Amino acid sequence: MTSTDSPAVKRSGAPVPAQDATDQPLYANRVKVYPKNVKGPFRRAKWAVLALCLGLYYLVPWLRWDRGPNAPDQMVLLDIAGGRGYFLDIEIWPQEVYFITGLLVLGALGLFLVTSLFGRLWCGYACPQTVWTDLYMLVERWIEGDRAARMRLDNGPLTAAKVAKKATKHAAWLLIALATGGAWALYFNDAPTFVADFFTGQATTKQYFFVGLFTASTYVLAGWAREQVCTYMCPWPRFQAAMLDKQSMVVTYEAWRGEPRAKTKAGAPPAGKGDCVDCGQCVAACPTGIDIRDGLQLECIGCGLCIDACNEIMGKMGRPLNLVTFDTQANQEARACGQPTGIRFVRPRTLIYAGILGIVAAVMVTALALRTTLEVNVLRDRAPLFVTLSDGDVRNGYTLKILNKRREALAYRLTLTGIPGATLVVQDVGQAPGEQGVAVNAAPDTVEPYRVFVIAPKGSLKSDSTPIHFVLTEEASGTTAKYDGVFLGPRP
Ligand code: SF4
Ligand code: SF4
Repeated sequence: MTSTDSPAVKRSGAPVPAQDATDQPLYANRVKVYPKNVKGPFRRAKWAVLALCLGLYYLVPWLRWDRGPNAPDQMVLLDIAGGRGYFLDIEIWPQEVYFITGLLVLGALGLFLVTSLFGRLWCGYACPQTVWTDLYMLVERWIEGDRAARMRLDNGPLTAAKVAKKATKHAAWLLIALATGGAWALYFNDAPTFVADFFTGQATTKQYFFVGLFTASTYVLAGWAREQVCTYMCPWPRFQAAMLDKQSMVVTYEAWRGEPRAKTKAGAPPAGKGDCVDCGQCVAACPTGIDIRDGLQLECIGCGLCIDACNEIMGKMGRPLNLVTFDTQANQEARACGQPTGIRFVRPRTLIYAGILGIVAAVMVTALALRTTLEVNVLRDRAPLFVTLSDGDVRNGYTLKILNKRREALAYRLTLTGIPGATLVVQDVGQAPGEQGVAVNAAPDTVEPYRVFVIAPKGSLKSDSTPIHFVLTEEASGTTAKYDGVFLGPRP
């Protein structure tokens, strides 16, 4: 069902002359798309999703969240310099980047599930490329007019009015691009401070560079590249077909009642003719410039605007609506044969996606619930592997790091088990005679490194590699963190 024609050939509608394959150009010229404004439920849904997505994107960095003293009060913040990610009360350390990975896996699985149920809803409604392109087209329509006016303007002579309209449009696009690039930077910086620094010239070169980069990408992708991003650059359309089956809801054309298409008068079509009056309104409304009557195509983002356009025509013609419709392929085949229809949301494919999604979500929630505020990491010296002291004792050196994820300085006791009679020495930290373990401290919300030596008495080692265990106990609460390491020595 997927068409393999090149988009340029389909959009131009021109007959393709018979050519040897070697005469075909490697790249097709872009045929500019002038989408027509339409009214209807799909268009209204798109406006609603657009407003929600843009509202969230621009506003979220300004929302505050009290985390107490010495902590950023921005609700969502990716503090690259500080190595922290903040989302509400959740604080992610670099060592916990698997939470981000888990979120991405959840997003991917959610996308698989939605696609298998409702086709390319993400592409048509919530993908940033779609949202910003829609916004840019709205601005373009306000300034240059709807499809016919824009085509006239582009094909007309260069006049002062044309220059003024084009200049206004590009200025508005650049302003939106700057707001978008700037808003992106707000997620990585304290928003009020960043805005003040940015407009007083006190932001860093890196900050100006990234705002410039995202401004330029928004302007180019949403203003110029548009549907070409979906058609040529995005990998998702290439493999989303693997998630679709005959029970997936997609935007489709009821060829069984539309064909043979003919320009007929209002009312029921004449005998031998279908409902499609070949008005081309579905093509004119399409933001990717394709003809849905050619079948499900890679370029179709599933936005449903062609449904709104066709329903308006069907309404005027007094014919049944939804000649272009949002339905399953199975239903279309059943309708064509006059058989009963229905939608099967529960299928092996959707059950598998939902099952894996549920498992990953449960793992994420459990990991989050069991997240500790204290960790200890130990790295053993590689060279030398061990040192035999003059009295026959054996010494290993380690770098021990305490990860104090609390917002207060804390005192701990470090102890060691695994080798009877072994001594634990922490460089630059004194130890009272007879004291159990070594007292160490860690500053708030930081990684505190210590240089640690373990000395095994002569004759205490039964092997050249002995398991040992560092145990860190928080003095006030008794919370412990353990690290299992090894102690190396000569062959006994
Ligand atoms: S064919 Fe219809 S659903 Fe597909 S992109 Fe065009 S307007 Fe949207
Ligand atoms: S809008 Fe409807 S009637 Fe007009 S060409 Fe498209 S499918 Fe046919």
